[in-house]
Amino acid sequence: MIDYDDALRRLLDAAKPLPSERIDAADAIGRILAAPLTSAESLPPFDNSAMDGFALRTAGEPIAAGTEFDVQGGRAAGDGAAQATSGAWEIMTGARMPDGLDAIVPIEQVDVLDTDADGRPSRIRLTAAVTHAQHLRRAGEDIAAATTFASPGALIDPAMRMLCASVGIATVDVVRRPRVALINTGRELVDDPRQPLDAGQIRNSNGPFLAARLQAASADVVGARTVGDDIDAFLEAIASLPPHVVILSTGAVSMGRFDFVPEALARLGATTLFHKVRIRPGKPILAATLPSGALFFGLPGNPASTAVGLRFFVEPVLRAMLGLPPEVATFLPLRAAYTKRVPLRMHLKARVALDADARAGVEVLGGQESFRIRPLLDANAWAVVEPDVDVLDAGARVRVMSRGHLEPLSVTS
Ligand code: AMP
Ligand code: MG
Repeated sequence: MIDYDDALRRLLDAAKPLPSERIDAADAIGRILAAPLTSAESLPPFDNSAMDGFALRTAGEPIAAGTEFDVQGGRAAGDGAAQATSGAWEIMTGARMPDGLDAIVPIEQVDVLDTDADGRPSRIRLTAAVTHAQHLRRAGEDIAAATTFASPGALIDPAMRMLCASVGIATVDVVRRPRVALINTGRELVDDPRQPLDAGQIRNSNGPFLAARLQAASADVVGARTVGDDIDAFLEAIASLPPHVVILSTGAVSMGRFDFVPEALARLGATTLFHKVRIRPGKPILAATLPSGALFFGLPGNPASTAVGLRFFVEPVLRAMLGLPPEVATFLPLRAAYTKRVPLRMHLKARVALDADARAGVEVLGGQESFRIRPLLDANAWAVVEPDVDVLDAGARVRVMSRGHLEPLSVTS
C-alpha cells in the first residue's frame, strides 16, 4: 500500500498533455484556453455616451451652470459618425459621440427651454456645471486594440464568452477534451430508472454521477457500459473502446470473490501503477496503463469511494492532460474537533460556511460511511486530513478542496 502523494506522482508521470483544437467561441463554454486571446478591436469601438443627455464641447474648460445652448442635432445608439463644432447634440446612451464634442450633460441636469415641431428639445440650459470628458466612454477604455486579455489555461466561462463576443472573436484555440469511458461493474446494478428493482438489486448511481462530474471537469464521456461481474464482458467492453481514452471502471477492485478487475488487467498485459492507497474512503483504488497506452482507473464501487477516486486521482490527471497547474488547496479552521483512529488520509464530506463574524470555517458532516450518498447534498467541499494526524482541535486548519477541480470553493452563510 502506498501514500496518496506517491500514487499521485505515479499518475502525473503517466499523464500526457492533450493537443489543442480550434472551435467556435459559441461552443467553448467549459473549455480550457490553449493560446492567448488578443483583441484586434477596441472596446468600446468608438467614443460614446454613458448617459441619455446632450453632448457638448468644453475644449478642456468647464462650462458653468446656467449656460444655454441651441440643440443642433441628435444621435441614437447605432447612428454613424457626425461632425459637430459647437452647440448641444441630443444623445442617447451608447450613441457615438459627434466628432468635435467632448462631454455629456445628463438629461437630469438641463432645463429644456424650447422644443421643435416634433417635440424634441431645441434649446437647453445647464442646471449643473459640465467638465471635460464627463460621462464619456472612450474608445478602447475597456480593452485597447491589440491587448492580450486571456492566457492559456484560462477556463472559458460566460464572462470570457462575453469578452470574446464583445471584441469579435469567433473562434478560440482550446485544449482537446480528455475522452473518458466508463465501465460500471456489478451484477446487482440496474441502469434504467423506470425498471423496478428485483431482490438484491440496486440502482447504478456511480455511472450518472461520474458522467455529470466529468462533464463539469471539461472531459467528454465517450461511452458508458454496465457489465455485471463477468470478466469476459469487462474485457470485451475495454476492447470495444476507441484509442486514447481514459478508462474509469467502478467496483470489483477489493478483496471479494468477484473482484475480478486486477485479474482482467493482468490478462490484458497492463502495467499496474498502484493498487491500494492509504486513504479512506476508496482504499482499494487501482491505476494502470494498458498496452494501448490508455490510462485505467479502477475506482471502488461504494459511491463515496467513487467520488473520492474521481476528485483526488482522476481530476488531477485531467488537469495535467488539460495543461493546467496542480490545484492549490485552501486551509480553513475546523468548526469542531475531529478524531480518527486509522492512519489513513481521510477525504471527508464537508461544508464550508461563514460564521456570525463572516469568517469561513469547515464542518465535517455526519454520515461519512462510503455507502452514504445523501450527505453529498449538504457537502459543498471535501476536507482532507493527513494519515499521521489523529486528533484535530476545533479551530485547527485543514485542507479543503472544492467539489470539482474547475469549480471555485463554495461558501455558504
Ligand atoms: P464493489 O467495489 O464492487 O465491492 O462494490 C462496493 C459497494 O458499492 C457494493 O455495495 C456495491 O453494490 C456498490 N456499488 C458498486 N457499484 C455501484 C454503482 N455503480 N452504483 C452504486 N453502488 C455501487
Ligand atoms: Mg462489485
